[in-house]
Amino acid sequence: MFTILKNGRVCAPQDLGVRDVLLADRSVAHLADRIDPVPAYGATEVYDVTGCFVVPGFIDQHVHLIGGGGEGGFATRTPEVMLSDLTTAGITTVVGTLGTDSVTRHMESLLAKARGLEEEGISTWIYSGAYPIPSPTLTGSLRSDIILIDKVVGGKVAMSDHRSAQPSKDELARLAAEARVGGMLSGKAGVLHIHTGDGSRRLDWLFEIVAETELPITQFTPTHLSRNPELLLEGIRFAKAGGMLDITTSISAAASSRPRPAEAVKTCLDAGAPLDRITMSSDGNGSMPAFNRKGDLTGLVAASPRSLYEALCEIVRAKVLPLPDALCLVTTNPAASLKLPRKGRIVPGGDADIVVLDADLTIRHVFAKGRCLVKDGQAVVRGTFESHPA
Ligand SMILES: [Zn+2]
Repeated sequence: MFTILKNGRVCAPQDLGVRDVLLADRSVAHLADRIDPVPAYGATEVYDVTGCFVVPGFIDQHVHLIGGGGEGGFATRTPEVMLSDLTTAGITTVVGTLGTDSVTRHMESLLAKARGLEEEGISTWIYSGAYPIPSPTLTGSLRSDIILIDKVVGGKVAMSDHRSAQPSKDELARLAAEARVGGMLSGKAGVLHIHTGDGSRRLDWLFEIVAETELPITQFTPTHLSRNPELLLEGIRFAKAGGMLDITTSISAAASSRPRPAEAVKTCLDAGAPLDRITMSSDGNGSMPAFNRKGDLTGLVAASPRSLYEALCEIVRAKVLPLPDALCLVTTNPAASLKLPRKGRIVPGGDADIVVLDADLTIRHVFAKGRCLVKDGQAVVRGTFESHPA
């Protein structure tokens, strides 16, 4: 099955100018000034994308695929993610995670959900673990989960947060060491993805672990670092030392102390954090407090994976970064950090994960592994139990 995207401006994410792009089955096969269908090769679908941007599919490295939350009681558990929640937001690669609740949410169901979404059309991975110490696993240890389960790309833990298991510095170091060796033995990233809370210790222990052990700073991918200005400063220090700085794009409208993603990215860049050290993720389907205009808590909402795309647009429209550079935050940077060599770029031999954006950045088409899942803004492929248009 061949598909040709004709006459779009390809940002791969670097700006390649106007190019035609040939997709063959699940891969990008060729980019050239002009590519036309070859009848002998059989049916070829041609999309005229004149005036559009052709960009890599987005990678969201923190989504509660089976739901999360629950911190306000059972009625506050958030629902599962549906395929089109991700695809209509341009997300073609997702990493699923557990959160505070690992009693009524399980690694097994997270793995099954990730496999289901993969069957439905996108690319998925998961982190092993949650907030408790010892952390829940599938095979007995974080190291063996990473080695034995194809979908497990790293581990998950929480620190500097009242909801965490209050892990000691040594326990954090041991988890990171397990993730590292697991990653080495399986050829995967083996990152330790760390939910970072509002606590005053911030990233102190990560700096200390890196100074006192042989663990490289790239083993850690702390997230939620824009939750307050002081933590963001520590994140900038971490990025300047070579670590990854992950900014959460879902923020409550009235969380006034939290910089918006575009502001956070600008702050990081102005302070000298290298662009290739910064990533964004949505925290999709985590629970988020909702406030009215006066700032009173009115209830909870499930965070939307779409915030990732919205943050990208905000960064471009506010001229914090031009589109090719802004794309790095959700394509090449997470792909490099998670060691996903087929992801994050439009390059021959890479996966045909592609978003076509109109000139005003509206999402027009989304392709995942060569298959068109969103066409003219509508999800043409939906999850198994999503409602279908009558
Ligand atoms: Zn989360």
